[in-house]
Amino acid sequence: MFQINENYLKLPGSYLFSTIGKKVSAYSGAHPDKKIIRLGIGDVTLPLAPAIVSALHKAVEEMGRAETFRGYAPDLGYEFLRNTIAENDYKSRGCEIGPDEIFISDGAKSDSANIQEIFGPENKVAVCDPVYPVYVDSNVMAGRAGSYDRERGIWSDVIYMPCTEENGFLPGLPKEHPDLIYLCFPNNPTGAVITKARLQEWVDYANETGAVILYDAAYEAYISEPGVPHSIYECEGAVTCAIELKSFSKNAGFTGMRLGYTVIPKKLKCGDVALHSLWARRHGTKYNGAPYIVQRAGEAVYSREGKAQLEAQISYYRKNADYIFNGLKRAGYTVSGGVNSPYIWLKTPKGMTSWEFFDYLLENANVAGTPGSGFGPGGEGYFRLTAFGSYENTVEAVDRIRML
Ligand SMILES: *Cc1c(COP(=O)(O)O)cnc(C)c1O
Repeated sequence: MFQINENYLKLPGSYLFSTIGKKVSAYSGAHPDKKIIRLGIGDVTLPLAPAIVSALHKAVEEMGRAETFRGYAPDLGYEFLRNTIAENDYKSRGCEIGPDEIFISDGAKSDSANIQEIFGPENKVAVCDPVYPVYVDSNVMAGRAGSYDRERGIWSDVIYMPCTEENGFLPGLPKEHPDLIYLCFPNNPTGAVITKARLQEWVDYANETGAVILYDAAYEAYISEPGVPHSIYECEGAVTCAIELKSFSKNAGFTGMRLGYTVIPKKLKCGDVALHSLWARRHGTKYNGAPYIVQRAGEAVYSREGKAQLEAQISYYRKNADYIFNGLKRAGYTVSGGVNSPYIWLKTPKGMTSWEFFDYLLENANVAGTPGSGFGPGGEGYFRLTAFGSYENTVEAVDRIRML
């Protein structure tokens, strides 16, 4: 008789977005005249930029001709894309990352979930609280998280690093020594960023204690202030302790296209084994690469027109973030994030729980957001709004909240 991976049974149901969906449709069913504005979505809404669309068309034509048809992509991804990434995302920032240290993939969600499998089962994992749930759940599936405490919403073998108003939503260095440290800046859900000096402390800590930092930089394109690192490799010594995960989803609208990459420097070793060789082996065995046409579209992200068009898209979302942040602040809310991030993290008023505030906003302003408690116990009493809607809806939603 076969057995299942029992670790899957330990996972609590992820009711967050389905509960939101159910509550919103129940409300709109009962009040068909009300226009509900959704500021909870973590998905982009603007269409692909013209430079990307024309790169796609060109690649499709190539696939339809015998002379230019392409089959399986090279294991690590096409060189044209890896060279472009190395040049634009690393060399231009003074980071010593070469094209052969970049692995092209179908996105940062799968990479951030899969990367744990090149590490031993006994490794101790540390995450921020609140956190993007993928980091925790993928380690639960691998049997690395221990048992779940339903009451407190935490796992016995995971180290939680609280991100609170007091510490500016930046975790302190953990007292227990983790082996794998997941960091994400600009952060989802809090919108917080880390300065280069503070990130350097994490890099030094990881090098001193023999830990690996898994650095999720999916929102890097939203950084608007100086002094905020765009890559962890801007920090000295990061090539011996950090893996970086990047996505084309939030900067270029590729959520439905699927493209991302992971950087593993060749100097990142466990004894004399390079993690690069393990991930290369994993890639070669379990993955056959992102589609050629999508990799060509990814290349267009870095073209002159592509860069200009995407800067305009980011500015559009940034204007929304600005409107939400300042509008709610003026209305007396305690808000953070939003400046280097498409996410605004607000404290629920009058001691409401995250879900109480969800219901309150839905019923009184007809605005749907995301309860902070869905991202871990540290998110209780907070609420996430996103800048990914249209400007008109964003303005209307914020104005309704201000009238309450
Ligand atoms: C959206 C997001 C990603 C990107 O995932 P893709 O699979 O590339 O679409 C990665 N990490 C975080 C924290 C995110 O919010």
